[in-house]
Amino acid sequence: MWSTPANGNGKPHTNGNGTAADLAAVAAAIARATHDDAGDAHVLTGFETPLRPDAFMMDDELKIELIADHFRQIMHILGLDLTDDSLAGTPNRVAKMYVQEIFKGLNPKNKPSVTLFENRYAYSEMLVERDITLYSHCEHHFVPIIGKAHVAYFSSGKVVGLSKINRIVQYYAKRPQVQERLTVQIGEELKRSLGTDDVAVVIDAAHLCVSSRGINDTSSSTVTHFYAGKFEQEAVRMQFLNAVKGL
Ligand SMILES: [Zn+2]
Repeated sequence: MWSTPANGNGKPHTNGNGTAADLAAVAAAIARATHDDAGDAHVLTGFETPLRPDAFMMDDELKIELIADHFRQIMHILGLDLTDDSLAGTPNRVAKMYVQEIFKGLNPKNKPSVTLFENRYAYSEMLVERDITLYSHCEHHFVPIIGKAHVAYFSSGKVVGLSKINRIVQYYAKRPQVQERLTVQIGEELKRSLGTDDVAVVIDAAHLCVSSRGINDTSSSTVTHFYAGKFEQEAVRMQFLNAVKGL
């Protein structure tokens, strides 16, 4: 990791004569440039969040302590005076926010438990929950993704409390994310929790990495879709999209 800036003995690659070390530095620079481009293009590499097997060996307290240390270093490197009263508490605040709030959905222990109830009313039509508030973070820039999720399903004979749908959306949103992956993760989880294939998810969201930096486009939003089971039929999909639009 980047515990000290001089890691890897920190020698500049100036007066090299094409040595193996120089070639390695060039290869690393190319790899870095490629990754930067992929990140700016928001390239998705898979539908599972790429977590290491040892992701939760450390407890939350230790994670907060370590992240605060590293964030303090970032602020220091930026030239900020951490003895200033306004800044002194920031590293710890950011670390707590990462672990306990905006990225708490990385940890499976925070996954909402879903209880199914009998569908006593025998309601067999499409159930739509629209305009679910969605706050996530782009994994390429760690800045917010803000939008709405719209979800629908047909009951398999069982139903969930509506707030559980919000909780499932929020659990997967509270990770560094790519919108396509977030949409699929919510869809697949709803299929599992509801015991049905008949699930649809649409997310309409603005990415602050697009609006507040980079291309600085403040008007565009990104719409992603997940359709399974009955929602693969055009007519059913249209019924859902019309409901989302407010019919
Ligand atoms: Zn981004």
